[in-house]
Amino acid sequence: MPSVTLQRVGDIAVLTLDNPPVNGFGLQQRRMLIDALDAVAADAQLRGAVVTGAGPLFSGGADIREFGTPAMTASPHLLDVLQAAEECAKPVVAAIHGTCVGGGLEFSLACHGRVALASAKVGLPEVKLGLIPGSGGTQRLPRALGLARALDLIVSGEPQAAGELRDGALFDAVVESDVVGAACALARRLADAGELPRLRDRVVPDAADAARELFAQRRDAAARQYPHQPARLRAIEAVAASLGDFEAGMELERWLFLALLATPESRAMRHAFFAERAAAHVRGVAPDTPVREIRRVGVVGAGTMGGGISMNFLNAGIPVVLVESRQEALERGLATVRANYEASARRGRLSAQQVEQRMGLLQPGLDMSALRDCDLIIEAVFEDLQVKREVFERIDEVARDGAILASNTSTLDLDAIAAFTRRPGDVVGMHFFSPANVMRLLEVVRGRHTAADVLATVMQLARRIGKTAVVSGVCDGFIGNRMLEHYGRMAQFLVEEGASPQQVDRALETWGMAMGPFRMSDLAGNDIGWAIRKRRYVDKPQMRYSRLADRLCELGRFGQKTGAGWYRYERGSREALPDPEVDALIRQYRSDIGVRARAVSDREIVERCIYALVNEAARILDEGIAQRASDIDMVYLAGYGFPLWRGGPLMWADMQGSYMVARRMREFAAQPGGDAAFWEPAQWLARLAERGAGFHDA
Ligand code: NAD
Repeated sequence: MPSVTLQRVGDIAVLTLDNPPVNGFGLQQRRMLIDALDAVAADAQLRGAVVTGAGPLFSGGADIREFGTPAMTASPHLLDVLQAAEECAKPVVAAIHGTCVGGGLEFSLACHGRVALASAKVGLPEVKLGLIPGSGGTQRLPRALGLARALDLIVSGEPQAAGELRDGALFDAVVESDVVGAACALARRLADAGELPRLRDRVVPDAADAARELFAQRRDAAARQYPHQPARLRAIEAVAASLGDFEAGMELERWLFLALLATPESRAMRHAFFAERAAAHVRGVAPDTPVREIRRVGVVGAGTMGGGISMNFLNAGIPVVLVESRQEALERGLATVRANYEASARRGRLSAQQVEQRMGLLQPGLDMSALRDCDLIIEAVFEDLQVKREVFERIDEVARDGAILASNTSTLDLDAIAAFTRRPGDVVGMHFFSPANVMRLLEVVRGRHTAADVLATVMQLARRIGKTAVVSGVCDGFIGNRMLEHYGRMAQFLVEEGASPQQVDRALETWGMAMGPFRMSDLAGNDIGWAIRKRRYVDKPQMRYSRLADRLCELGRFGQKTGAGWYRYERGSREALPDPEVDALIRQYRSDIGVRARAVSDREIVERCIYALVNEAARILDEGIAQRASDIDMVYLAGYGFPLWRGGPLMWADMQGSYMVARRMREFAAQPGGDAAFWEPAQWLARLAERGAGFHDA
């Protein structure tokens, strides 16, 4: 139950916001705070109020649990709470002991004074949801901090420590301890002096000429850095209004806030915010499921993945036992881990001491019995079921009871792997993405027998190492790569029909993908896809594949690692340069299969590639491989460079409308050579289209 408690400290009332987990300003909390301020005003024994938060936070701002419910817009609003504080007849001082962001910071800006602990983080992160602060943040913060620093906070959305914002009028005092005591003292001083200072009455300290130049610079920078995020420019516009009349600025801020609320970008970014939180909930695993303690992790295989996987745990201070089968592979793996850390040290992200500390937590070896004391063992050896069998049988022999046994396999059947052990309930997939120390996504693969507490433990551990975990059922490619295969197939067909690899990449990159499919394939290695296709030709003879990429591979053009792929690369450079040899290869291929090149529009490129993701995603939902549509979006946002401001493939489909998406798929099916079997809308999508509903409708 939310509460605001009133405690008397002499003649000052200390009001404590208590609404776990972040002391959000939900409806109850808003009411109670106004009531408490009124009580202070009416009490002749009290001379002022100090507002602080219970637990580690001051306040995280709006209560996100109210989003989309009537409580969100019910009276009183946050602006009313701010007004109650600002207009209180007795001084109201915010005692900021911990994180104070969004509406929390805006509330404190409406108080008559602010005292903060130096370590407390303050910020206005609204742009990360495609919005701007909507309760005066853009008007009061510049009056307190000056334009440049206010813009830093508001346009980046990144919080800063109060200690870094000491000078200026944001804080009356920044202290190292007893923030409530200092705030009470300030409230008394203000009461003695009969002062109720208000930020709204201050003038922004910047000169007009300098301000003009600053805004021009910041607009350029925001347009360049965030070309698809209108909120960043609108935030600058709102801050610019702080140079004028306060009420007019408030009105503009309100207007811009409401306009942004209706943008597809904000809808997408808010969706992503909730999708990430939803992904943490695992069906059939109660939130209070006890987790197993993970104090030491074992990693088997020190290749491309094993080293990066180990780094995740070392970074979190968890010791790792790294086991290889060959001395030289072990040495190479260790050298790569060290080189990665040293590169971070050169960039100033780690100290030399931290590098040694992390390396010191790593215990390398060639003997699997060293895994005996590990609480979690992650296998990252060759992608070969026979090799996995040998490794899992051995792990089963040495691992202690209750240890979690994980496989990083990308394509093999996790249930088959689990059956190599006598404890399939302890086996789970942990599918990291390359480079494993960098990529945020972790697919947690739930086998037929995976125990609930194993899933709960791995999901919690993922958070501890900074990953976004999404649960997937067992299937070839899991969620992400299974969908990607069809995206890649479409990209190839488009080239077969007349587009160039550059056009396909450019169209998708302009649309927002971090990297087009051909540049991506050159980066990952074209031989990987080749190996998969060779298997597919046998396993799935009915599936259509362009053979163009095979021809490329037959020439040894594996991508960046061989200096040539769909593009050519100068020695030591990653810049993808068009290659006339590839153009000739494509022309020859078209002539061999009897295709006359046609003009392909950028729109067709985007729709065929992204709708390929959508249709396969719908099949994944049909089969229950993904728990919910938003999980699929999260996979693409966290692991595949999908633009945040589009909210994921299924959010994009929702914005186009399911009926129109299904209709377009039928058009693709009818095109010559159109892969009609693939484009038949999956049942999930067909059902949505029938009702005109979206993947994300409640
Ligand atoms: P890799 O070939 O780079 O490394 C595999 C390592 O395992 C080698 O160093 C090898 O010496 C070692 N090894 C083999 N048998 C062993 C044994 N019995 N005991 C100990 N070590 C042994 O392969 P990788 O790319 O790191 O892939 C490893 C796993 O991760 C595979 O299952 C792969 O599908 C999966 N994966 C790879 C990627 C990727 O992009 N490379 C991404 C996700 C998942």
